Order: sequence, then structure tokens, then C-alpha cells
Amino acid sequence: MDFSYPQEAEQFRKELQAWLSAQLTDAVIDASARRGHDDEAFETLRAWNATIADAGWAAVSWPQEYGGRGASAIEQLVYAEEATRARVPNPLNTIGINNIAPAIMQYGTKDQKAALLPRMLRADDIWCQGMSEPEAGSDLASLRTRAVRDGDDFVVSGQKIWTSLGHRADWCQLYVRTDPEAPKHKGISCLIVDMSLPGIEARPLVTLSGDADFAEVFFNDVRIPADAMLGPLNKGWQVATTTLSHERAGAARLYAEMQVRLRDLVTDLIAHARNGSSAVDDPSTVRRLGELDTRIKNLEILCQRSISSGMHGGDAFATASLAKSAWGEIGKDLAALAFDTLGPGAADGRWDEFRLTSHALTIAGGTTQITKNITAQRVLGLPRS
Ligand SMILES: Cc1cc2nc3c(=O)[nH]c(=O)nc-3n(C[C@H](O)[C@H](O)[C@H](O)COP(=O)(O)OP(=O)(O)OC[C@H]3O[C@@H](n4cnc5c(N)ncnc54)[C@H](O)[C@@H]3O)c2cc1C
Repeated sequence: MDFSYPQEAEQFRKELQAWLSAQLTDAVIDASARRGHDDEAFETLRAWNATIADAGWAAVSWPQEYGGRGASAIEQLVYAEEATRARVPNPLNTIGINNIAPAIMQYGTKDQKAALLPRMLRADDIWCQGMSEPEAGSDLASLRTRAVRDGDDFVVSGQKIWTSLGHRADWCQLYVRTDPEAPKHKGISCLIVDMSLPGIEARPLVTLSGDADFAEVFFNDVRIPADAMLGPLNKGWQVATTTLSHERAGAARLYAEMQVRLRDLVTDLIAHARNGSSAVDDPSTVRRLGELDTRIKNLEILCQRSISSGMHGGDAFATASLAKSAWGEIGKDLAALAFDTLGPGAADGRWDEFRLTSHALTIAGGTTQITKNITAQRVLGLPRS
């Protein structure tokens, strides 16, 4: 199924293409793969984040007053396609821009919005999100990190884990238990925490690929001013589920990414012919490539359904959850196929890296089992258990 986009959206595409072809460099694209273990690459990306933010291309769905473009859903779709095809690196503050900013826009004071959002967009400040704990991942509502009111402060103690960029962050959107007596979803609050406060210790966690992209973060009797609370007391669950009402086409990035990866794989297979014969001549490889191509096409349709639901008042989240699990499984299978056919070390090690990091695709942002549960309940209408 091919959409034909309205003329204004195609104009938007041309404007973006022109800007990217003038500004985006190979050094920026290359830095993306090295950001977890190379401080210089991290700073290259920080500078790029400022460039793209200042030009208004960092978060096109955001309202203009915070540095976005107030882009329509179709423009957002075009943005996701073009940015992915051009290999624009994800922003350093991806979680900040997509997940934390909506809550600040909805619950923050005027001063908080003005002080925090533009700096987040430019990556002047690095943000992390403290949700998961050693005993609270999928079941986030079981979190135990406590905040006890003492005068004008909350005193916070506990531990977070898998905190992306926790060791580099200037700010943390932290979820804490403020009422241990209440049912678990109802005793949680959200704090905006300055990561330089005494008593906070962030220890980087090194993953299979050798990168330190996330950390475990310890809070040892940290005094946090009570006015750092985001949203009402004990309504942290509501804050956690805030989504950006303007954001409609985030799912497009899922299929666009896998299309690019599949095309890269075919290119690499042709380039790495052995003894005059390429893996694309092997029928079993062709079958696996064909299957992936079909699954990516299905993913594209799922994403477009989710975007369409969002535009017409339907349950975009339910279809997006289905798309997220399909995306994760496709990513893992694509990485396995690349590794099986090209072998280790091929194409500058790019597939080795993806083979290792692809395991995170079915965990981060909700595991495949959890997204399948959401599909069962919200798409198929099955009972909870
Ligand atoms: C790359 C990456 C970045 C991350 N960044 C952050 C971050 O910035 N901030 C943050 O707070 N967290 C972050 N996380 C953590 C992530 O949110 C959790 O890993 C995820 O929620 C799963 O929790 P868990 O690891 O504790 O696994 P568990 O919840 O312990 O799950 C273990 C297994 O049991 C399954 N399972 C659990 N419950 C059910 C159920 N009800 N039905 C069926 N199966 C179930 C799961 O699918 C999984 O296979 C990140 C994770 C990754 C991989």
C-alpha cells in the first residue's frame, strides 16, 4: 500500500531534504555508533543536537513555543521517513523529548517549561528517566524508592537501574513512592531531580557491546526541594502515562529503520561476495530476506494503522504496541541473518554491533511479552488473565 502525500507534505519533505543535505555530515552519522564508549563522539552528537534544534528540526511535533514546528501528522510521518533514510542520529535526549517533555508540558510551571525544555532539545542538559528498579521493571507500580516529606524537602532513598544516560545526566525525571500505605499505583509521585545533589551516585553499566549507555543510580538520603514535584502528589502514575497529544507519527520511525537496515544488508551481501558468489545467490538466504521484507511491509501497515488511529480518535497506543513487538522481533532476526551470512567482522563490524544491541529491542520501552499482553487486551479484547 502506498500513500500519496499531500503537496504541502511533499514541500515539507523537500525543505527537510535540502537542510539535511547541507548540514548532516558523515562525522555526525559515524558518531552515533560510538556514543556509548567515546566521549568525543558524544560531544559531536551534542553539538549536532544544538544545530538541529536551532533550525527547528529536532522535535517537529512539539509546539513552536518550545522549539518545535507544530507539524501535522503527515509532516511528522514524512519527517520520520526522511530522517531515518538520511541516517540522522537519534537525539541524545530521546527519552526526554518523547517521554519526559510531554509531562513537563502538561504539568510543569511556566518557569520550568521555559528553563528546561529548550535546553533539553539542544542537549545542553542531558536527561534521564528513573523508573525501573531491581524489583520493578515490567511491574513498574511495585517501585520502592521512597520520598519522605521533611520540611520544605523530600528525602529520597532507593535505587534505580537500567537508567539510560544516568551517569551523564544533569536532570532526572524520578518516580518515587510517597504513600506506602496506598494501593501501589496510587502512592507514586514524580520529581524533577538535579543530578548534582549530594547523595546521588550513578554507576555506569557496561553492556555486551562494551558500551556504557546506561547506569544504576543510588539515592542515599537525597534532599530534594518539594517544589521539584511534577504533577500532583501521589499522581505519578498519571504523569508517567502522559503522552504528547501532538505526537502522532512516532511509529513511522520503526518501519523506516528496518527498511534501511534490510537495504544495507542486501548491499553488504552483494559487496562481500566470496569466490565470485554472493550470499544473495543462495536460495535459503533469499528466502530469509524475502520473509523479512514481507514482515517489514506488514510492520509499515501496522504503523500506518496506528498513525491513522491517532488522527481519527482511535486507540493508537494499542496498535503501536503491536508494531513495537513486531519491530523488536524483526530487528533481532535481521541481525541474526546478517551475522549468519556475513560472518563476524564484516562491514567494519557494524553487524556485530547490531547483533549484540538487537537483544535490547525486545526489552526496552516494554518487553515483547508486555506489548503482547497489551495487544491481547486492547486489540483482541481478551480478559487480563
Ligand atoms: C536499552 C534499554 C534502555 C532502558 N532505559 C531505561 C531508562 O532510561 N529508564 C528506566 O527506568 N528503565 C530503562 N530500561 C529498563 C526497561 O524499562 C526494563 O528492562 C523493562 O521494563 C523490563 O523490566 P525488567 O528488565 O525488570 O524485566 P522483568 O519485568 O523482570 O521481566 C523479566 C521477563 O519476564 C517477562 N514478564 C514480566 N512480566 C510479565 C507479564 N505480566 N506477562 C508476561 N511476561 C512477563 C518479561 O517480558 C521478561 O521477559 C531500559 C532497558 C533497556 C534494554
